[in-house]
Amino acid sequence: MLPTASSTIGAPGAASVLAAGSGRGRPRKDPPVNVPSGSKYCFRCHSVLPLASFATDNKTYDSKRADCRACDNAASAARDKHRRALRNMRLAAGLTR
Ligand SMILES: [Zn+2]
Repeated sequence: MLPTASSTIGAPGAASVLAAGSGRGRPRKDPPVNVPSGSKYCFRCHSVLPLASFATDNKTYDSKRADCRACDNAASAARDKHRRALRNMRLAAGLTR
């Protein structure tokens, strides 16, 4: 056993709010920066944003989506673009359903 617990290596005062495990799901990642309460870290654009920037999702531990709205919109736009491209290919090949 180590007598002194100098455990925090790189994190500047890591918030232990995430440690409240409810026993469900996989363990959550710790944000690499200090996140004040009322804010949330977006792992996609790597920035700390107010909770209002995150869409509601009742399936998650904090009822907020993991990605901010901007990232969410960008991802869904990319998804739409991809689906449209696939559809156009199918149309061009005469493979429509
Ligand atoms: Zn984001």
